Amino acid sequence: MERVASFKACVASLALLGSACAASAAPAPAPCADIKAATTVLGTSRTLSLPREAAAYGRVQHGPLPLQPGEVVLTFDDGPQPGSTPQVLQALAAQCVQATFFMNGESLRAAPALGRQVRDAGHTVAMHGYRHPHFASMPEAEQLADLSAMQAVFEHTLGRPAAAWRFPFLEETPALRAELKAQKITVMSVDLGLDDWLPDQSPAMLTERLLARLKDTGGGIILLHDAQVQTATALPMMLKALQTHGYRVVHLRWD
Ligand SMILES: [Zn+2]
Repeated sequence: MERVASFKACVASLALLGSACAASAAPAPAPCADIKAATTVLGTSRTLSLPREAAAYGRVQHGPLPLQPGEVVLTFDDGPQPGSTPQVLQALAAQCVQATFFMNGESLRAAPALGRQVRDAGHTVAMHGYRHPHFASMPEAEQLADLSAMQAVFEHTLGRPAAAWRFPFLEETPALRAELKAQKITVMSVDLGLDDWLPDQSPAMLTERLLARLKDTGGGIILLHDAQVQTATALPMMLKALQTHGYRVVHLRWD
């Protein structure tokens, strides 16, 4: 049932993107919704609903999410960026998978419609700092002010408070950890990253690195950057590789 629901969500997101898939959908069932398509695209395997609580996940710094071996969670940081985020949305829609986007406040303020497009495509949206600073080198009052600015633009643009936060550079501070805990906001670290912010990373390089690191971790929370054009360009190859190697995508949601 979950798989069917996710493909229906995919159809909705494709329609928003105005893709060929959606254009061929009516009046017959859309390609992403039929059984044949379900075996040819990656698809979202299941949805993991998490409570709004002061938890912290990601084995680089915290404990693991309750995932099975071979399950992965796709996460994208530093958007929304008009030059690359739409391409990421298109690649995700083409494979009928949902991800979590940790957005920057400044970027969301500059591109609010794109931020809403990410949400309306069925993805989960969360916070990643207003100015993406190095919090460890900032006074506590400025750290808290950045969180407040992030929350203000998030709620103004997306209509409800965010349930989760990822520290820029994964650089956690006691002051912000305490404030996030007080507000019952979940901290999301990662299980593996691809260093997709390095210059001149080809799709083949990123895909090979993804598979190598997944072999080490057995799955988990994958850190990607939708603000990187090279990541957006590589995403179709990476998603196809996940499918070929039997990984299953889990969609995170907070109630
Ligand atoms: Zn970042």
